[in-house]
Amino acid sequence: MNADIHERALRLIDAWHVEGISTPDRVWLEAHLADCEACAARAAATERVIQAVRRNTIAVDPALVSTTQARVRGQARAMQENQSRLRAVWISCALSWILGALTAPLLWQGIAWIGRRLELSQAIWILAFTLCWIAPASLVAAFAAWKYSDASEAARTRRH
Ligand SMILES: [Zn+2]
Repeated sequence: MNADIHERALRLIDAWHVEGISTPDRVWLEAHLADCEACAARAAATERVIQAVRRNTIAVDPALVSTTQARVRGQARAMQENQSRLRAVWISCALSWILGALTAPLLWQGIAWIGRRLELSQAIWILAFTLCWIAPASLVAAFAAWKYSDASEAARTRRH
C-alpha cells in the first residue's frame, strides 16, 4: 500500500468526526481500517479522545443557570441604585458648597460683629466662623455617608 492511501485514510478519519464523510468514503475507510493496523490504531485513538471530551462536558443544571443570572441582574441593579444615590450626594454637596461660598461674606460679618460685641478674641470668632461655614457641608457628608452605608448594608442583605 502506498503512502497516499494511508494519508487519505487519516484525512477521512479526521473528517468523519468533524463534518462527516460520504457513504462511499466510509465504505472505503472501513475496508482500509480492516486491513491496515496503523490507520486502525489512529482511528481508535481519535475515537478515544472524542469519547473523553464528551464525558468531560459539564452538564449545567438549568436551575443553577437561572439563579446565577438572577444574581448577576440583582447585582447590576444594586450597582445602578448606588450610582444614582452617589450622584444625589455629589449634587447636594455641590449645592452646599455653593451656598456656603455665597453666604460666607454675610456670615463673616455677622460673626465678626458678635465677636466684637462680646469682646471675644479674634482667634475665637474666626474659629466660630470656620465651624459655622463648614457645618452644612459636614452635615450633608455625614448624612450621605450614613445613608450610603445603610444602602450597601441593605444590598448585602438582599444578596444573601
Ligand atoms: Zn493505513
